[in-house]
Amino acid sequence: MGQLLSAARERMARAAEKLELAAETVDRLDYPAETLAFSIPLRRDDGSLKQLKGWRCRYNSTLGPTKGGIRFHPSVSEDEVQTLAFLMTMKCALMGLPFGGGKGGVSVDAGDLSLMEKERVARGYVRAAARILSPDRDVPAPDVATGTQEMAWMVDEYGQIAGGIAPHAFTGKPVALGGIEGRTPATGRGGLIALEAVREQLGLEGKDSLTIALQGFGNAGSWFARAASEAGHTIVAVSDSSGMVSNDDGLDVEALVKAKKDGGSVTDYGDGDTSDDGIAIIEAECDVLVLAALGGVIADADDVKKLSCKAIVEIANRPVLPAADEPLREAGIDVVPDILANGGGVTISHAEWVQGRTGLDWDAEEVDDYLEEKMESAAGEVRDLMDEQGLDMRTAAYGVALKRLCAAISATGTADDFAG
Ligand code: GLU
Repeated sequence: MGQLLSAARERMARAAEKLELAAETVDRLDYPAETLAFSIPLRRDDGSLKQLKGWRCRYNSTLGPTKGGIRFHPSVSEDEVQTLAFLMTMKCALMGLPFGGGKGGVSVDAGDLSLMEKERVARGYVRAAARILSPDRDVPAPDVATGTQEMAWMVDEYGQIAGGIAPHAFTGKPVALGGIEGRTPATGRGGLIALEAVREQLGLEGKDSLTIALQGFGNAGSWFARAASEAGHTIVAVSDSSGMVSNDDGLDVEALVKAKKDGGSVTDYGDGDTSDDGIAIIEAECDVLVLAALGGVIADADDVKKLSCKAIVEIANRPVLPAADEPLREAGIDVVPDILANGGGVTISHAEWVQGRTGLDWDAEEVDDYLEEKMESAAGEVRDLMDEQGLDMRTAAYGVALKRLCAAISATGTADDFAG
């Protein structure tokens, strides 16, 4: 088993131990159900041929079809895909969705591909993975460097292979192709709902307006920033892969979105201090540090020493690594964990899947209400378990997810049933 997956599973083991869950049910979650590894031949625009490595992992389907995104990034590996599929298993269980966990990826730098090359990769991925995909078995969605455009190509390719249109085979599609209003902002908006719901547990209840530093200004990060500034919070610093911009009086989020669109980076925003050291944002003095870029940003005790925040929100998947858990506890910094903080994305994917399955459209208000209800309810269960058992937020979130998974696993029989 890869190092990333085995480190991630330690968090599950800690929660299982605290909750005294039956070992044989937790053991079922120890290892992925299946992982398909393949190569995707990419004919580049200059005529050359390049082989790309791709994976799709279905980690566990106890609660339903496996669900999770497909990312295009040079750091993608089998270990990372399996770890992210494990996280999706926990996330879908925590959010109370009828889905298991899956994930996919291609090891490629999307920034290095033309639009037509991206289309070839997206369609090539589906051709290679089609044998394990299906609307009732494994349902992909966007992830890092993929979005509505990639899902449009993928669902089209899948329809050609399957011999018919299956809108619920992919989520995160353009609205014109069976997508749902509100899926794109859902991860960011859901992150703010989660943060508000656990403010007391984070020790941030007294202040109306929080100061927020935000790493990553892609889809999830920018929608989180919009929602947070509309709610009256002050965004004091934002970074992306080119650098960082900060202003203690607050940054204008719409102007940041425009700067990023026009110039390619938040550093093109005019009114603030700019630096080309984007990673230094973790040192920003603020109430809440929101991590919405990639995994592994706070990796160990040395990274924790650099922090000047009171709490962390993980909008990306696995930005805080297990080796930083104990140093964070000692520093008194609690973390709203990824499986809760970014659970809004897959929640609205569920609404989109239901829409495709039933043929009945949801309107924007229904989507907003569903997002709020699911985020509030998952956060409430996490709060209750924290209070009951004196747990940190991540352990409690894993605990809620595991209780649901273990109940379903044990419903098919336990050692006691069979021995009796
Ligand atoms: N990639 C997103 C995540 O990590 C969304 C998954 C989905 O909607 O299936 O949660």
